[in-house]
Amino acid sequence: MADLTCAACGRVAAFGDGHWRCACGGPFESREDRPFPRAALERRPPGLWRYWEAFPLPGPDAAVSLGEGMTPLLPLGWDGTPVLCKLEFLMPTGSFKDRGATVLLSLARRLGVRRVVEDSSGNAAAAVAAYAAAAGLTCELFVPAGASLDKLTQARAYGAVVRAVPGGREAAAAAAQEAARSAFYASHVWHPAFFAGTRTFAYEVWEQLGGEAPDAVVLPAGHGTLLLGCWWGFGDLVRWGYLTRAPRLIAVQAARCAPLAAGWAGREPEPPAQTMAEGIAIAAPVRLPQMLRAVRETRGAVLAVPEEAIAAAWRRAAAAGLYVEPTAAVPLAGLSAAVAAGLCRAGERIVVPLTGSGLKAAGAAARLLP
Ligand SMILES: [Zn+2]
Repeated sequence: MADLTCAACGRVAAFGDGHWRCACGGPFESREDRPFPRAALERRPPGLWRYWEAFPLPGPDAAVSLGEGMTPLLPLGWDGTPVLCKLEFLMPTGSFKDRGATVLLSLARRLGVRRVVEDSSGNAAAAVAAYAAAAGLTCELFVPAGASLDKLTQARAYGAVVRAVPGGREAAAAAAQEAARSAFYASHVWHPAFFAGTRTFAYEVWEQLGGEAPDAVVLPAGHGTLLLGCWWGFGDLVRWGYLTRAPRLIAVQAARCAPLAAGWAGREPEPPAQTMAEGIAIAAPVRLPQMLRAVRETRGAVLAVPEEAIAAAWRRAAAAGLYVEPTAAVPLAGLSAAVAAGLCRAGERIVVPLTGSGLKAAGAAARLLP
């Protein structure tokens, strides 16, 4: 199994030793990985397990799969700019989080655990619960008391037990981490196996573009699961000699909760406020330094968009036949801002992931209708 290295202190560990973070408190990242053989791809079925060599697992037989991956890349005109929308909301649970969950829960089953815990109350909760169910594992979700039960209905349907924890997100995370002393911490934030899955976003785009990279990927950023997956995934392809350059990564946040944008601009973040982009409303992402590196090393940018721009982008996406959750409209609002700022130019190949389904957010959608 591939080794891990701590992003903070450089200590090396092994996948499967039960640690979800370094003894110093820093997050792990994969240290070494194996390339999937390019020539073998044409004989493999679609779906993200076609890249199994790059995962910390012995083979595709170890997969806990619900048919995820190889989402369509749909050409669309946006502000007169041609863009390729990757329809991540067509995943089995309705969001891109299935990429991470299929690899993470496959690893959990492989390690012989019986019970997994997680502290999401959104799309990651649904994804972890679904793949835990598919793996035959018990799943417990620790959520802040008062969290919307709407989003958790899906996770509960898969059989997850929801435990409400008094206090905010941090208290829920602390409760999950305490429970993880006797269970597997299936964290979409901390566990590097989750990121092994989100890297496949980059692999798929590369294949769908005939073995080339786009010029830019404009994507939403909260905890950075997709941003870092893209950075590492395109980085893999360059390192393996399958690409000569990685695309610019343009991360977009809601202005009401924008710690990455603040870090990018070199200032202290404003206190967070309520935003319709609840899926990326993360005031203190644990991988913030890595996220800034991902943007800097790809010569990208970070943008923050106001609520009105997110609402307008959501309505325009819906008018084009694309029913996404408000969070998923954030990169479309960001694309408009990026074009206006000259960060994306005419003639460039730009990919925008549409991360989550509007079917999961009927209440929020109804409030955006005229
Ligand atoms: Zn460390």
